[in-house]
Amino acid sequence: MAVDLPYPALHATHGGMWIARANGTTAAVGRGEAIAQAADTPTILLNAPLVAARLGLSELSGLDLLELFAFVHPARFAVPTPAGLARALGLEPPADDGAAAGFLRRAAAVLLARMGADDWIERDGAWTAAQGLHRARWPWAPLVLEHVAQPQRSERWLFSRLPEWEDASGRPPPRTVILDEAEVVADLARLTGTSAEPREGQVRYAQATAQTFVPRIAEGQPNVLLAEAGTGIGKTLGYLAPATRWAAAAGGTVWISTYTKALQRQLDRETDRAWPDPSVRGRKVVIRKGRENYLCLLNLEDALQGGFAGRAAILAQLVARWAAYSRDGDMVGGDLPGWLPSLFRRAGSIALTDRRGECVYAGCPHYRKCFIERSVRSAREADLVIANHALVMILAQRGSDEGCGLDRIVFDEGHHLFDAADSTFAIGLTGQELIELRRWILGPEKKARGRRRGLAARLSDVASYDEGGDEAILDAARAAENLPGEGWLGRIGEGLALNPIERLLAATRATVYARATAQDAGFGLETEAAELDGALIAATAPALETLESLLRPLTRLGQRLEAVMEDAPDWLDGQARARVEGAIAGLGLRCRMLQGLIALVARLGGPADPDFIDWLAVDRVEGREFDVGIHRRWLDPTVPLAETVLKPAHSVVVTSATLRAAEGWDAADARTGAVHLERSARHFAVPSPFDYTQQAEVLIVTDIRKGDIPSLAGGYARLIEAANGGALGLFSAIHRLKAVHARIADRLAHEGLPLYAQHVDPLDTGTLIDIFRDDPHASLLGTDALRDGVDVPGHSLRLVIMEGVPWPRPTVLHGARRAAGGGAAHDDAIVRARLAQGFGRLIRRASDRGHFVILSAAMPSRLLNAFPVGVPIRRVSLAEAASIVAGRDENGIGHDNATDSRLSSVTPLLHQKPD
Ligand code: SF4
Repeated sequence: MAVDLPYPALHATHGGMWIARANGTTAAVGRGEAIAQAADTPTILLNAPLVAARLGLSELSGLDLLELFAFVHPARFAVPTPAGLARALGLEPPADDGAAAGFLRRAAAVLLARMGADDWIERDGAWTAAQGLHRARWPWAPLVLEHVAQPQRSERWLFSRLPEWEDASGRPPPRTVILDEAEVVADLARLTGTSAEPREGQVRYAQATAQTFVPRIAEGQPNVLLAEAGTGIGKTLGYLAPATRWAAAAGGTVWISTYTKALQRQLDRETDRAWPDPSVRGRKVVIRKGRENYLCLLNLEDALQGGFAGRAAILAQLVARWAAYSRDGDMVGGDLPGWLPSLFRRAGSIALTDRRGECVYAGCPHYRKCFIERSVRSAREADLVIANHALVMILAQRGSDEGCGLDRIVFDEGHHLFDAADSTFAIGLTGQELIELRRWILGPEKKARGRRRGLAARLSDVASYDEGGDEAILDAARAAENLPGEGWLGRIGEGLALNPIERLLAATRATVYARATAQDAGFGLETEAAELDGALIAATAPALETLESLLRPLTRLGQRLEAVMEDAPDWLDGQARARVEGAIAGLGLRCRMLQGLIALVARLGGPADPDFIDWLAVDRVEGREFDVGIHRRWLDPTVPLAETVLKPAHSVVVTSATLRAAEGWDAADARTGAVHLERSARHFAVPSPFDYTQQAEVLIVTDIRKGDIPSLAGGYARLIEAANGGALGLFSAIHRLKAVHARIADRLAHEGLPLYAQHVDPLDTGTLIDIFRDDPHASLLGTDALRDGVDVPGHSLRLVIMEGVPWPRPTVLHGARRAAGGGAAHDDAIVRARLAQGFGRLIRRASDRGHFVILSAAMPSRLLNAFPVGVPIRRVSLAEAASIVAGRDENGIGHDNATDSRLSSVTPLLHQKPD
């Protein structure tokens, strides 16, 4: 059925604005007319927050096509641009921006018509959801209700259509097996496919990995392999072959851990090859993430029943629609479109997950359908569990059966183990952490909505049955009154602290302001926790007493609950047991956290512990304070990594394309924790098969002055123009990124080169990367997360531009590690690693070609061995760089005479020979 819509559509970019009217005409308009149009009539838009930003408005409402898409095709992928939406709908993409406005009207008509088609596979639940959306005043609701037929029988509501998970008896311990290398190689050939060329490096890599699965020789002495596999080796399949064979032969689980979500998604796709049947794969491979990533059905139910108002209520309805079709309920990086929460400015999406540990486990009516519980249970039976470094470390630290099978682990992106361990094993006494702890114990503040309840309400049955438990709960509640409460941040700034912890935070804040030197005006401030003065020291004793008076009853309560479980009373049925088990786990977590905080506060004013780095900080964004606290990190976080993760394991493979960077195996041993093991790790390296001399070139631009924003912005613009888009721009500071973007986005857009930016465009990073990948003329600016979270093979990424030498920020933490790690050599190692990671974005496959440009004359030659052996490196002016990037330089890559004629200007290289 063709749909004739009476509404205009507005398309806005940095390059211009266009309105397509109901009479079929499209016109370019000025900003004033576009704003008037959007305010006047319901107007069809694509991504309202982004259009608002292009119009210079803080907010804009209209008929957002992305919301309609999320309703019609929940849990389906679409790149949120006119061309991306066209591809998702099977339509011809608009030829240019001028045609995009008309396309938006067409796409809206197609989506509405789809709901009348017989083959609409997401029909189930749509009519009921549309009714809910109508009540929430969703602008599309009247139109949608015209097209969705009322079902003959009432529809199954989300909570009844989701399947229940099954409990299983648990797997026996894995059998002891030794892998036959010939079989592993045969598996590898099957995984890579018969048409693929057997790659010798990949075969050797798979064999080396397979040897790690032999039985370990002694407790606490795992088989550890550090394996560096240059980009293009195919390391993913190289370790999947032995891992899947070991899991099948031994009846055990191999955990594969990544640092970035991008690699997690890629791994998930690659396991298709091992188990092409999705139903088998669903059992064999499970993705595990932290609880805070998943939709909590109880929170969703609260939201749908009046807990959310306004736009958040619309989001809740669209999320409910998605949940019915979602593969696993993962809201962050799963099949919920990353752009959906951004359309609602993230209002409510966080409250739909279990972020604050308020799960009531078996006390929850949706427990048997809970996405989180399902993923925990499926992981126990799976051959492969795909997780991330932080979760692996947390589960290993807890030692609960959630981490069962964590004794065979492959850490991909192993060069990030140090950073992951650094944040996972960190301790922080901050106002935000402690207010959460207070809420966990006491329940919500008086004004708060929702179902959150304190310990007393959650454990009321235990309290009425066990006197000791009841007393412990009351004591904990009394002690928690001394933790920071609502409004703490304002009070400590005004000298009105209410309790010992607030007084400690007030003294901390005063010390930071007295001593810190602002590096970036308006951003975080910090100072070493050394030579502390009287006011702060005086505040520590009462704070310690508060923390101890809380730890005591929480520990007692944990013991009482254990006793109740052992001597189970009649009322302790399966549900109550699971709830008490949940409470024991939650208490254990909080007790460990309190022990860490007590150790941290007890040390203030005393001699420094050489194993730790302590500092005080005020966290701010653009001048606004949002937290105050005392922080502690391990000087070497691989110490706890080795103790909690590596030593208890049997087999560990740590792998990466840049495991050693240019630093050698000793450095890799130190960064991965292998150095703390009694038995040495094995080392294996295989170089990239790529011909970097022909595929890539590094250009160091020598005529852009440091700190000169106009010339930095001009440099970016010229290079992006020269490459005709396809550029990834990397920055070390957000304010410079914003300044450069503001100067060049319009200029580039007028040339048909869209420029997107993290921290500027109201979109999540994953979506920005999707847009960048989808449009070969688009460019993307970003900070650290993009340096190695981007996997864009092919023509879409052909130029990487770094704003300067990526030196580490001079923080207290960095200063201490620098002093302990060899001074300048420590900094050099960090820069080399960052350069190698940034360069690694450029060449992802054998046919890729590209340039890596550093806009800094001060790039030291000693750091150039960060790049792969053979990559040509030239120091050039911006004009020369633009000419080379544009392909006008006969010495550039792709020209036959490139290598020879380049030698005269190539900077001498200091490459290390591969071992
Ligand atoms: S079991 Fe917990 S996380 Fe799952 S739906 Fe219920 S309250 Fe939410």
